[in-house]
Amino acid sequence: MLIKSSIFVVSSTDIRKCPKPNRPEYAFLGRSNVGKSSLINMLTGIRNLARTSSVPGKTQLINHYLINDEWYLVDLPGLGYARVPRGVKQAWQKMITRYLLSRTNLMNIFFLVDARLEPQAIDIEFINWMGSQYLPFTLVFTKTDKISRTLLSEHMKCFNEKLNETWETLPRRIVTSAVERTGREEILLEIERANIVFYSPEEA
Ligand code: GDP
Repeated sequence: MLIKSSIFVVSSTDIRKCPKPNRPEYAFLGRSNVGKSSLINMLTGIRNLARTSSVPGKTQLINHYLINDEWYLVDLPGLGYARVPRGVKQAWQKMITRYLLSRTNLMNIFFLVDARLEPQAIDIEFINWMGSQYLPFTLVFTKTDKISRTLLSEHMKCFNEKLNETWETLPRRIVTSAVERTGREEILLEIERANIVFYSPEEA
């Protein structure tokens, strides 16, 4: 897919303020610092993501970008920011889960996982929750340029073992690096395919 235009549309505090669900949409989500801004920038050229959203104490927002006048890319607040009070964290989480459960045009969630780390409890928990809610998602391993191939396959294996405890078939996954620009075509292809399903389901 060729990215011809990426336009910031709106930051919403609440699902009711999001744009009309008249275009397919794709959410990007993961722990703070997982590499979400870098990945979105690598995919679309969007540079000035709502940066303040990762600053503690600032309002957490659902950011909509319109790509090619055809689909929405949604930048969600980072999960589990460590330095905020528990109550605030729970409120974000609630906003995110409410958003994920109620957007009728949500075609896929790209759930980002830092490839350098062993499986993190918060990631596994969230993945299992998405599964229990039948939400469509793809795992996106980030920062893969920072580790050796051996370590990467070791971490993927660990991840599989963890997921095998609860999953019969393993979720789709894409290996990426914002620095080396790997995984870009794969993600955009998934989006392109799902766009076809949204616009002309009989052809898909
Ligand atoms: P966010 O908080 O999830 O939006 O994360 P950022 O995109 O701001 O990235 C967090 C840190 O990881 C920054 O220092 C980035 O430069 C670095 N980073 C992100 N993606 C990659 C990647 O693919 N490779 C490398 N080497 N560093 C990355």
